[in-house]
Amino acid sequence: MSANPMQARIARVETVPLRVPFRTPFKIAQGAARPQAEIFIVRLHTDTGLEGIGETQAWRRQGSSETLHSLRATVEDHFAPLLLGRSPFEIGAIMPALEEAVYHSLYAQAAISDALYDLQGKILGVPVHALIGGRCRDALTACAVLTIKPTLEETVAGARAYYDAGFRAFTVKVGIDPEADHDNVRELRRQFPDAVLRVDANAGMDFDSALRLLRRLEPFDLDAAEQLLPVWDLRGMAELARRSPIPLMADECVATDHDLVEVIRARAATVVQTKIAKNGGIWHGRRLWHIAAAAGMRIYPGNHPGTSVATAAALHLGAAWPGPLLEGAFAVGLLNLAEDIVTRPLQMQGPRLAVPDGPGLGVSLDEGQLDKFRVAL
Ligand SMILES: [Mg+2]
Repeated sequence: MSANPMQARIARVETVPLRVPFRTPFKIAQGAARPQAEIFIVRLHTDTGLEGIGETQAWRRQGSSETLHSLRATVEDHFAPLLLGRSPFEIGAIMPALEEAVYHSLYAQAAISDALYDLQGKILGVPVHALIGGRCRDALTACAVLTIKPTLEETVAGARAYYDAGFRAFTVKVGIDPEADHDNVRELRRQFPDAVLRVDANAGMDFDSALRLLRRLEPFDLDAAEQLLPVWDLRGMAELARRSPIPLMADECVATDHDLVEVIRARAATVVQTKIAKNGGIWHGRRLWHIAAAAGMRIYPGNHPGTSVATAAALHLGAAWPGPLLEGAFAVGLLNLAEDIVTRPLQMQGPRLAVPDGPGLGVSLDEGQLDKFRVAL
């Protein structure tokens, strides 16, 4: 260790591509059911022996063209030379340099952003939330994500298990079979009259189908309908927002802060979902929240299915946020992945997830689990 830990410099950039299995195959409107999530971990090693960790995912659906190979190439070939020899406290200079090196590389940047924050926290001995405004809440409340199941009975049984565990907010995946969507929502509303219900088509519907579905779902008191239309159809979203009785949430169509400004200008949604990977980690995510709040939008903290590392990043972002937050899907990975990759996985108390108190993100990688799920690229 050097005498002054503030002088720590990044000495090595290590990448760890993983495939982590889901408990049951994960099915949404876009694409086939998935047996595994593709997780990408970055470890920033310093010359003082500390390491910072960050997570992103290779999602490969609308809004993401990343693969494990492309993430590795971006980080190792283009980001690493910009990181070596730098202090993790230079995050404000580093993040724009990464964007300059590889345009629109938010998925890869997410892992760097959060590894830099993790390092800063470990060097100072404080949790990440203390670096970005301090603790405004002790825990975040999550929603349950109900993926597309073959039968109404299976959908309701899944919701019942979550409800019995204390969950009172549900995001129901829709967009393939409008009859099943209608019947699912009607039955969930009947069985859970006090629950917050939202639907999410993951950009899988056309305009006419979306409008028709929204009108049919109007009696069921939905809090929001998430990203029904493809990412390219912002005008369609704006038209839908004007004609829909249900508030709309933008997700896949918002990657950059510019995307969010366009949604606001078009009044194409009144709720925005951010994800650690999609939006470039804590660094970019907090900026999106400020823009959204300034425009009067509601904020839904989400995530792609990921491990405790990306979940912790979302928790710290939320912990330091002074405004209201919806019951987001930030814990979808904890609830749906079969295993984790940290020594002490984050533990939910029903729908609540306490903000970690340890230095940095507050989670440590389990080498055995990394070896178990590591992919040879
Ligand atoms: Mg979504």
